[in-house]
Amino acid sequence: METSENCCVKVALHIRPLICDESLQGCKECVTVTTGKPQVQIGAHSFTFDHVYGSIGASSSAMFDECVAPLVDGLFQGYNATVLAYGQTGSGKTYTMGTGSKDGFQKGLIPQAMNALFNKIETLKHQTEFHLHVSFIEILKEEVRDLLDSVSVNKLETANGHAGKVTAPGRQLIQIRETSNGAITLAGTTEVSVSTLQEMATCLDQGSLNRATGSTNMNNQSSRSHAIFTITLEQMRKIHSVFRGNDTLDEDMGEEYFCAKLHLVDLAGSERAKRTGSDGLRLKEGIHINRGLLALGNVISALGDDKKRKEGAHVPYRDSKLTRLLQDSLGGNSKTVMIACISPADINAEESLNTLKYANRAR
Ligand code: ADP
Ligand code: MG
Repeated sequence: METSENCCVKVALHIRPLICDESLQGCKECVTVTTGKPQVQIGAHSFTFDHVYGSIGASSSAMFDECVAPLVDGLFQGYNATVLAYGQTGSGKTYTMGTGSKDGFQKGLIPQAMNALFNKIETLKHQTEFHLHVSFIEILKEEVRDLLDSVSVNKLETANGHAGKVTAPGRQLIQIRETSNGAITLAGTTEVSVSTLQEMATCLDQGSLNRATGSTNMNNQSSRSHAIFTITLEQMRKIHSVFRGNDTLDEDMGEEYFCAKLHLVDLAGSERAKRTGSDGLRLKEGIHINRGLLALGNVISALGDDKKRKEGAHVPYRDSKLTRLLQDSLGGNSKTVMIACISPADINAEESLNTLKYANRAR
């Protein structure tokens, strides 16, 4: 078992290549990576992270192997985990996570996590019974929206067995609840039971599509919402008696039960909300999104501060829906990885620097 000493948050930086749009505008790269070190420079500033994945020769499988594979393995030991993609809109969060359209599908961290999960299940299924279910939600303006409510297959009732209250077609009243043992559940969300990789991939696809569709009439709402794809793994392992000499048989002693979940989070864009005109609604959204990211920054920095943690300092999970929902999967025995995403272009230098500062605070 891991001690709390080495459980704190890992931070990786992902610098995407210049995209076509930036090249056409004549942008230059303004971020440099120190050879052989997980270190970057932007202007006069230098930052070191646990890992840096640069724009040249970046391999998405290295990022998966180093950052996410250990979390998938941890699930089988019963540890909850969270992967967070942070950065300004356009920095590559959705591409990195693989919550977008199908083009990034094979490369994204979520599809790779799903693959690894099913591969591991395949090797263990002779001794363990597995149940998997997924949910996919979005938090916008401090409201939780179910992205799987139109998925028609294999729906379970809800996270904790109560049927969700349907307020209108496609709109469920979703409530974050805490059980007596500290587990967080989302009452009212669709939990889809899946038994194959293909079924899980369908959930990811349909939810991603739902997220995109919901954003067509407002100016790209999806950049202002947090999308959380959650995989829950339940295991029933047969326990056998220990071998004690010649006369003890391999006797059935009952079952051991584990349940753990992996949250894969495509966070809202970190750019400052633009206070254009008298658009009150827009302003409200900006404030709420900042609330989630602000609370997340505070929670992660409280968790990463050994001194504060030993003094039992307050971790402000309750300051936003996002941190409340992730409460049982950040800190404690859970494993957390933040992937900070930046554009290398000089026009984005200011936002990239803000991202580096935020990510640096999380270490
Ligand atoms: P965000 O979700 O942070 O707003 P996206 O993931 O949508 O950003 O990425 C913005 C654009 O950059 C997209 O056109 C995407 O295809 C491209 N992009 C992002 N990351 C990469 C990468 N690693 N390699 C190539 N193109 C990328
Ligand atoms: Mg995105």
